Amino acid sequence: MRVEAAEAAASPGSPRWNEVRPETALADVMGGVSRREIRCLDHGFVALVDAMPRLVPQGQTADAAIVQAARVSYGQGTKKVNEDKGLIRYLLRHRHTTPFEMVEFKFHVAMPIFIARQWIRHRTANVNEYSGRYSVMPDRFYRPTVEQVRRQSRSNRQGGDELFVHAGATEAELKTAEAFVKFLEDSEAMYQRYLSLTEQGVSREMARMGLPVSLYTEWYWKCDLHNILRFLSLRMDAHAQEEIRVYARAMHDLIQPIVPVTVEAWKDYELESVRLSRLEIEALRDAARGGAGDLASENAREREEWIAKRRSLGL
Ligand SMILES: Cc1cc2nc3c(=O)[nH]c(=O)nc-3n(C[C@H](O)[C@H](O)[C@H](O)COP(=O)(O)OP(=O)(O)OC[C@H]3O[C@@H](n4cnc5c(N)ncnc54)[C@H](O)[C@@H]3O)c2cc1C
Repeated sequence: MRVEAAEAAASPGSPRWNEVRPETALADVMGGVSRREIRCLDHGFVALVDAMPRLVPQGQTADAAIVQAARVSYGQGTKKVNEDKGLIRYLLRHRHTTPFEMVEFKFHVAMPIFIARQWIRHRTANVNEYSGRYSVMPDRFYRPTVEQVRRQSRSNRQGGDELFVHAGATEAELKTAEAFVKFLEDSEAMYQRYLSLTEQGVSREMARMGLPVSLYTEWYWKCDLHNILRFLSLRMDAHAQEEIRVYARAMHDLIQPIVPVTVEAWKDYELESVRLSRLEIEALRDAARGGAGDLASENAREREEWIAKRRSLGL
């Protein structure tokens, strides 16, 4: 490490500082581009526009910033786990989360308003959204195809799963899916009235009240890696709405090459892991002793979830 007193830069009365030049050349984690974009749905996108750290020693990834922060807290005590990959995996396994807050990503995102409403619930990000008070909303609406229309799920009250259009679809099913797409088309027709009313002097903040939630909005969204991983855990999950999962997958694909060690560890210990409750562990022990391995719970939903978990574990 080379420390230089920056005497030359300091004029009388101005602050003085020491400068440290890197031992190895630095590389841009975004490979020198100012924007990396993945298209989502029909008019949307997730674009990575900045990262911290942006510059890392050549040959390293932004995972290095996590290791650097962790070493401050562990100091010399990291001897046993001081290999970088091992340290990151240890931190994630044991939920030592603060070092992951040292990495940040900034995205520019365009998504339908009904997705933005779900997204904004993730409160730990910094957000700046397009203003429908200052500007006329652009004429962009999310409209799924007839083939993409989902039926209300029978098992999950919040979700839609089976498609109306499938190999043995009935005439009535096809008609329902078409009627839904026509319904969206009709709601988009409100846009011309919205424009006309703003032209007649109605304030933009009021005129927008008649627009549907399939309208696209956009924002800049900056978040630290710890909370991005939390966002991805929740929004890449099968319980999340398909349309927001499209965005979560795009976000994952954008950050994965920049923090590959962390993303791999997160998949191992979080995304693709299975969490067991005390009752589930007791049921497992019961099964190991040759019992039925049933969950000792009065709650039918909990019992169903245990059956699904057992199946996913191949038991
Ligand atoms: C499949 C699914 C279905 C959902 N359904 C609904 C629904 O029907 N209705 C609904 O209202 N929401 C719903 N949500 C939203 C959900 O309840 C959470 O608000 C959302 O997932 C954000 O999670 P979070 O609070 O952990 O994230 P963040 O807001 O990013 O917070 C991250 C963590 O920071 C901490 N934190 C943040 N803010 C505070 C605070 N003010 N005080 C204390 N700790 C804080 C908490 O530990 C929190 O877990 C749903 C979410 C999912 C994934």
